[in-house]
Amino acid sequence: MKTIEEINEKIARKEATILTAAELKSMVRDGQKVTADEVDVVTTATFGVMSGTMAVMMLPVAGKCSFEKADAIWLNGVPAQPGPCPNERLGVVDLVINGTSHADDRYGGGHLFRDLVKGKEIDIFVEAHGRTYENRVTLDDIDFARIITTRLAFKNYHAIINPTATTISSIFSVTGLTGPFTETTVSGCGEINPLQNDPSHRIIGVGTRVLLNGAHGYIMGKGTRASPDKPNISAFADMKGMDPHMMGGMKTSHGPECLTSLAVPIPVLDEEILSGLKILDHDVPLPVSDVNGRTAHSKVNYGHIWDDTDKVIRIDKDRCLNHPDCPAMRTCPTEAISERFIIDRDLCINCGTCTLQCPAGVFRARLGSIEIDEGTIPI
Ligand code: SF4
Repeated sequence: MKTIEEINEKIARKEATILTAAELKSMVRDGQKVTADEVDVVTTATFGVMSGTMAVMMLPVAGKCSFEKADAIWLNGVPAQPGPCPNERLGVVDLVINGTSHADDRYGGGHLFRDLVKGKEIDIFVEAHGRTYENRVTLDDIDFARIITTRLAFKNYHAIINPTATTISSIFSVTGLTGPFTETTVSGCGEINPLQNDPSHRIIGVGTRVLLNGAHGYIMGKGTRASPDKPNISAFADMKGMDPHMMGGMKTSHGPECLTSLAVPIPVLDEEILSGLKILDHDVPLPVSDVNGRTAHSKVNYGHIWDDTDKVIRIDKDRCLNHPDCPAMRTCPTEAISERFIIDRDLCINCGTCTLQCPAGVFRARLGSIEIDEGTIPI
């Protein structure tokens, strides 16, 4: 058995063998024999819609004594909750703002967090005792700005289906989930998910150092709705170290949602930890749930999602019909298509929506399908 101290010394000497989870899985798929002596750290990660994301900040609004305490506050039009500290007569406002709060159907907390991390100026609008106060700030003007997650990195997150004939607006669908059993949506990283790779929770727990949206952060413990079957975790990190490419917002048919990422290094201390890291997608259970109440419907596995499917959208621009109102551009949930057939890869999350919207097939990807009693359901 190795110790974390020994591994850290090897890292400092630049002698450690560090693999991404994808690299290790690829070696396992190829039939290579890998032992705990040969690898020191495996990096795991997940990225996607994480509704349980919020920010806690203290914002400079006006001079001292200009107002007693804030009654309401908006940042770029996104409503926040002043407090808990009233900061009486100090002209600053402590606040909590949810990643899922939104200004309109295109811009929400997730977009705001990304704009702040990108260094953009944001508008502050405060109501206090019948008067209003405004300011414009960047992240550099904000002393305290942290992202806190109430839950993220759900292990074995569901595939969602709609058994009814009515299209249902949902955070699980960009355009509304059709039915009965005509399509499914999935948000889950399967074999590279951090919790999937630490099945006995030997490594990931309170105080574990992680990267949250690319910034150094810490695990606070289990998250809300965590269960032994489907654990998740809560974490925090300072917004000032975050990377805008690893976070953001997206439109869904139920309003804007927040995109968050988490990366966790797993030290390979012994063969037991390595065997947890060797799990492959086809061995990771994927529960299928009804969008109405999320009741269990059936169970498949993550191999349906990630084996032999495309992880990145391909573009065949010669097919473009120059449609005056490009449906892919209009529908893209991250507004990554700025011109016909041009995708901003920093914004694109490879969700696949454009492949279903473009009638000419400019955007292409094999998205896979799941097999349930009702038939083959496309993802
Ligand atoms: S896959 Fe297509 S629809 Fe989805 S974010 Fe990327 S460009 Fe937009």
